[in-house]
Amino acid sequence: MDQPLIAGDPHAEIRAEVAKLCARFPGEYWRELDARRGYPTEFVTALTEAGYLGALIPEEFGGAGLPLSAAAAILETVHASGGNGAACHAQMYIMGTILKHGSDAQKQQYLPKIATGELRLQAFGVTEPTSGTDTTALRTTARREGDNYIVNGQKIWTSRAEHSDLMLLLARTTPRHQVAKKTEGLSTFIVDMKAALGNGLTIRPIRTMMNHNSCEVFFDNMVVPAENLVGVEGRGFRYILDGMNAERLLIASECIGDAKWFIERSVAYAKERVLFGRPIGQNQGVQFPIAKAYAQMRAAEAVVQKGIAKFEAGLPCGEEANMGKMLAADASWAAGEACVQTHGGFGFAEEYDIERKYRETRLYQVAPISTNLILSYIGEHVLGMPRSY
Ligand SMILES: Cc1cc2nc3c(=O)[nH]c(=O)nc-3n(C[C@H](O)[C@H](O)[C@H](O)COP(=O)(O)OP(=O)(O)OC[C@H]3O[C@@H](n4cnc5c(N)ncnc54)[C@H](O)[C@@H]3O)c2cc1C
Repeated sequence: MDQPLIAGDPHAEIRAEVAKLCARFPGEYWRELDARRGYPTEFVTALTEAGYLGALIPEEFGGAGLPLSAAAAILETVHASGGNGAACHAQMYIMGTILKHGSDAQKQQYLPKIATGELRLQAFGVTEPTSGTDTTALRTTARREGDNYIVNGQKIWTSRAEHSDLMLLLARTTPRHQVAKKTEGLSTFIVDMKAALGNGLTIRPIRTMMNHNSCEVFFDNMVVPAENLVGVEGRGFRYILDGMNAERLLIASECIGDAKWFIERSVAYAKERVLFGRPIGQNQGVQFPIAKAYAQMRAAEAVVQKGIAKFEAGLPCGEEANMGKMLAADASWAAGEACVQTHGGFGFAEEYDIERKYRETRLYQVAPISTNLILSYIGEHVLGMPRSY
C-alpha cells in the first residue's frame, strides 16, 4: 500500500530509500521523544545528510532539484513508516519564498546552506494570538530605521523555533489604515534567530497534546537588517500566499502517509486477532470502517496527485491543494478512528504507537489551515458564492 494509485510511480526508488532510512527510527524512537517532547535530532540529521530536505532546492544552489511530487513521496513515506515529518518538513518548503521572491544575493547566501542543512530555515512566523486565521489583522510591526527594521510584536505556534537558525517572518510595515487593501503593507523578512535570541527575541515553548516543538515568540525592538527584507516592502502577504499551495499539498501527503500506516496496522490486526472463534476482521462491523477509510484515502490521494501535477506544470492549483489537504486530513482521521476501534483497548496502549499517531494526525484538521477556511475557499473561489468573512 506504500505505492500511490498511479501506474509506473516515478518516485518508487525514493520511497524505497526513505522507507529504509525510516526503519532505523522505529516506534520506540518516536515514543521516547513523545514522552519527553524531545526533538528528533538524529532523524532530522539522517534526512538532511541523505539530501531529502534539500529536495526542492535547485541543483545550482546545491539542492537535489527534484519536483514537488518527489518531496510529497518523501514526506508520505516518513508518515507511512510511523514517523513524523513535522519536525523538519518546513525546511523543505519555506525556502520557496526566497527562491521565488528573494534577491540573487539572498539566494546565494542562504539556499546552498539550507540545502546542506548548515542553516535551518524551518520557522515560519505568521500566526499571532489575537489575529489567528485573520492574517491581515496581525499586529507585529517592522519599522524602518536607517539600514534596519525594528520589529515589535508576538507570534504564536511558531513551530521548530528552538531548532531553527532562520525564521521567515510576516510583519506589518505600513499601518492597516494607511493601505488601500488590508492585504497590502505586510512584508516578509529573513530573521537570523541565533543572533536575535536574547537581543529582542524571546522563545517560549508550548506543551501540546502531541510532540510538535511549537512556540510562542516575542519581539521587543528586534533589529533586522534591511537587506533581510524579501522582495518588495508591502507585498509580503502575496509572497506567503504563493507558498501555501505547495505547503498544503505536502501536508496532505503526510496525512495520506498517516492513513496508510493506520490502515495497514488495522488490516493486520483485524486478520490476526481471533475472538469468538474467528478473526475480528471477518465481522463487517470491523471491516467496513477500515475499507471506508481506505476509499477516502485513495480519493484524497487522487486529488492531491492532480494538484501536484498542476503545480509542477505551473498551472493554478488552489482548488486541488485546498481540497486535497482537507480530504487527506479527513481520511487520516477516519483511518485513525478505525485503527483505534479495531485494536480495542490496545489502541490506547502507548507501545502500539496508535494513540501517538492518532494525536499527531488530529492536528491537520486545524493547521496549517483549518477545515472551515478551506470550505470557505471552495465556496467563494471555486463555486463563486459570496465571501463569508
Ligand atoms: C501545533 C501547531 C503548529 C503550528 N505551526 C505554525 C507555524 O509554524 N507557523 C504559523 O504561523 N502558524 C502555525 N500554526 C497555526 C495554525 O496555522 C493555526 O492554528 C490555524 O491556522 C488556525 O488558526 P487559530 O488557531 O488562530 O484559530 P482561529 O483563527 O482563532 O479559529 C478558531 C476556529 O474558528 C474557525 N473560524 C475562524 N474564522 C472563521 C470563519 N470566518 N468562518 C468559519 N470558521 C471560522 C476556524 O476554522 C477554527 O476552527 C500552528 C498551529 C498548531 C496548533
